[in-house]
Amino acid sequence: MIRRELVQRALAGEVIGDGREQISALTKEVEALRSSLEACVFQYGFVIHGLLTSGGMSCLEDAMEVLGMDDPCPAPMELVCDVPDCGDPATCGWPSGKTYRHTCGHHYHKPRKAKNRDRAAGED
Ligand SMILES: [Zn+2]
Repeated sequence: MIRRELVQRALAGEVIGDGREQISALTKEVEALRSSLEACVFQYGFVIHGLLTSGGMSCLEDAMEVLGMDDPCPAPMELVCDVPDCGDPATCGWPSGKTYRHTCGHHYHKPRKAKNRDRAAGED
């Protein structure tokens, strides 16, 4: 039986067998929902001074509460500019030597090839 059907039947109060398979399906469903909520908080939350906050948006406040997150809480490092002590949101990703940088717009450095291309197009 597919997970979706096990979950729906459990939510309707129907226990199949000893219920273990349904508990497993429900656990996986909860994990998937938590992961989805976390992705929403990370995508739509606000990063300010290295902290992640709902910004007063009630849907994000609810999501953060369900996830057990403080509001504000320390932002995951992938959401914050990688320049030490910056704390602004990482809005730019760009290759730098052998690494890949995640920085705010202020600390973004346009890759050299793009600069040359822009000059050739008459921009700069
Ligand atoms: Zn920065």
